[in-house]
Amino acid sequence: MKVSELGEFGLIDLLAKMINSSPGGQASRQQLIIGIGDDAAAWHGDDSTQLATVDSFIQDVHFSLALASWEELGWKALAANLSDIAAMGGVPRYALVSLALPDHTEVESVTALYKGMIELAEQFGVALVGGDTCSAPLVAITITVLGNTKNRDKNILTRSGAKPGEKVTVTGYLGAAAAGLEMLTEKLQFGAEVTNCLRKAFLRPYPRIAEGQLLAEQGVMTAIDISDGLVSDLRHICELSRVGARIEVDRVPVEPMVKASFGDRSLELALSGGEDYELLFTGSTETVEKVKMAASCPVTVIGEIVGEAGKITLVDRQGNPFHLQKAGWEHFIAR
Ligand code: ADP
Ligand code: MG
Repeated sequence: MKVSELGEFGLIDLLAKMINSSPGGQASRQQLIIGIGDDAAAWHGDDSTQLATVDSFIQDVHFSLALASWEELGWKALAANLSDIAAMGGVPRYALVSLALPDHTEVESVTALYKGMIELAEQFGVALVGGDTCSAPLVAITITVLGNTKNRDKNILTRSGAKPGEKVTVTGYLGAAAAGLEMLTEKLQFGAEVTNCLRKAFLRPYPRIAEGQLLAEQGVMTAIDISDGLVSDLRHICELSRVGARIEVDRVPVEPMVKASFGDRSLELALSGGEDYELLFTGSTETVEKVKMAASCPVTVIGEIVGEAGKITLVDRQGNPFHLQKAGWEHFIAR
């Protein structure tokens, strides 16, 4: 059935039933006064710092229906938003979904989209409490996520607190999401294990919520999630903190499967590829050591914050400058 046959209100009813029958987000639901169905959602707030973030996913700009399943799209759209809450060191609580769909969209596609979204929401205790539905020539998914710090005196992680001498550090491995995009667009053939790893990295990224909270607990003050690309996102930290950075490219943790399948190009993918949704943060040597001890994912120092505002230098093992082909993703910039 097409969404035009079901209509806006029929579709909202169907989605609301799906959402309300999912068991996730108990703690958030307990504080909920009104969820889907009224003019606005309402809940009892608590005594902490509140966080809000919104991100849009537009067909043929952010995603292609030829490359991703609807379920993967739902997962990824929410994951990108949850990653922003992770980068603040927060707890995601509520999400609102604004959905624009062409009339000919299959209802089954929309329920698959919500299946992916609900699956991820359940894993992080997020309650879907509302949204908007309209028709449009292209698919657009805009998600707002609301969250908070774990308790009243927990600090938030900002982009503006980096200090000279601090270590530049990343969680996990980089490059797999960009490699996955390239694999799908260029129809590259790899073995099953590599194919699954790259596809999952690109279409089902796992937001570093637990790690973000851990950073805040261990006294880290500065972080960003890697959505545009390592160097591009590091630039945001440097600009807002009025510092520079020196990165030793050989220390960058490139995903081993990317190394094995993309060889010489893998470092470039890790430095400028984007959409890995790992956390990039800065901290003193002691703070970073504490994070390493407590984290259950790899935590790698890749360089240092320096005093020279705005200047990011990339060097190889011998200390020679390393030249990057392309910095990272930015809308409105011709390339
Ligand atoms: P209004 O006309 O006041 O904007 P709507 O008819 O758009 O109300 O929405 C009715 C209810 O359904 C609201 O509670 C809204 O939050 C929820 N809703 C609408 N679309 C979606 C969606 N795509 N996903 C989740 N909830 C939705
Ligand atoms: Mg509405």
